[in-house]
Amino acid sequence: MKDDPRRRIPRTDTVLADPRVAEAVRGAGRAVAKAAVVAAQQRAREGLIAPEDVVAATVSALAAGPRRVINATGVLVHTNLGRAPLSQAAVEAMSAAAGCTDVEFDLVTGERARRGRAAMAALAAAVPDAEDVHVVNNNAAALVLAATALAAGREVVISRGEMVEIGDGFRLPDLLESTGARLREVGTTNRTNARDYADAIGDETGFVLKVHPSNFRVEGFTAAASVAELSALPVPVVVDVGSGLLAPDPLVPDEPDVSTALRDGAALVTASGDKLLGGPQAGLILGRADLVQRLRRHPLARALRVDKLTLAALEATLRSEPPVRLALHTDIDRLRRRAHRLAALIGAGGPDGNAPVECEVVESVAVVGGGGAPGCELPSVALALPVRLALPLRLGDPAVVGRVAGGRLLLDLRSVSPDLDDELAEAVRACT
Ligand SMILES: *Cc1c(COP(=O)(O)O)cnc(C)c1O
Repeated sequence: MKDDPRRRIPRTDTVLADPRVAEAVRGAGRAVAKAAVVAAQQRAREGLIAPEDVVAATVSALAAGPRRVINATGVLVHTNLGRAPLSQAAVEAMSAAAGCTDVEFDLVTGERARRGRAAMAALAAAVPDAEDVHVVNNNAAALVLAATALAAGREVVISRGEMVEIGDGFRLPDLLESTGARLREVGTTNRTNARDYADAIGDETGFVLKVHPSNFRVEGFTAAASVAELSALPVPVVVDVGSGLLAPDPLVPDEPDVSTALRDGAALVTASGDKLLGGPQAGLILGRADLVQRLRRHPLARALRVDKLTLAALEATLRSEPPVRLALHTDIDRLRRRAHRLAALIGAGGPDGNAPVECEVVESVAVVGGGGAPGCELPSVALALPVRLALPLRLGDPAVVGRVAGGRLLLDLRSVSPDLDDELAEAVRACT
């Protein structure tokens, strides 16, 4: 096979001698660099990358630290890309908190104070329906803490329709059972009513758990008991709303929110900090003062606590308008104007007078993602580029990640913060 592309895969020594690789070799060491070259060659042999991209793939593998990524996937909360990007205010707050701070100290009295009280106060102010609040490492930790403190050795009553897998093989039922709580399953996959819960409740019940099936939808002959119905039961109702919406949002009408769940009678609500709330990874726990206090005082709480950087970022997030919320609320005309400006910049050709790349403005559909608002489509606008740019864009700095559809690379602008537009255009022009 004379034109077998595998014959064009560069030899290891050739790659190592490339000036772009040579610099990375100095940082990583020759043995590590060699392994990276071999891995890139293997990927080229398997047809996963083009032979011409072996050098770029090696450089990318050897780059130190996490790489900056422009999320042009159209998925607003992309778990694999670090979920919510933080607001400028949150970034500055984290930077300010990086040294010594008053995270657990009262500067007026000069004595120890409740940890993270400023963040707790901001969260309590944002959700007046909560009697008390607590923050842990993530929503999974919030559920583990609730199950351990309120139901270890006892039962958690849960609908069979809400025995969900969060992602990457993590299943909520396994997580709950790892605490020593037993699951008492009620209803069926598609239908569970209040009576099913009532029949299962007894001396062994720790609490009723209602989980938002956030990453899938069951349609057709379905029924579920509402939080309001369940709150009439003589046991606490814990509601996992998932996405971290603090109040209803008409743009994601089916997404449950913390305030409504509390008003409907939930004893405790748990949510993530880094989904639609737009903040750092965290697990929010809000609700009845006595229950929040039991969770906060449980020995396990210490193992799940958040650090000062998270507390600083969370407080700033609650006091600002984070990028995820701006992206969700951006109107389509604004996206269209940005797209045409970018298309003009890109169509003008590369920085070294390279040939202009084909770039068309097309309609697109963005989604919330990250296990949020399944089935909710957000109208969007994308730049359609030749698909051959997908890999070089991913290997650039910053990396640009889009999505491939209909044989073209789409860069969806709803998930790109407008202040990254010029960098995005520059990244595309550099690849042409
Ligand atoms: C995302 C999600 C979780 C997991 O939250 P983490 O903050 O990632 O631990 C749990 N439950 C629901 C309903 C979710 O949507």
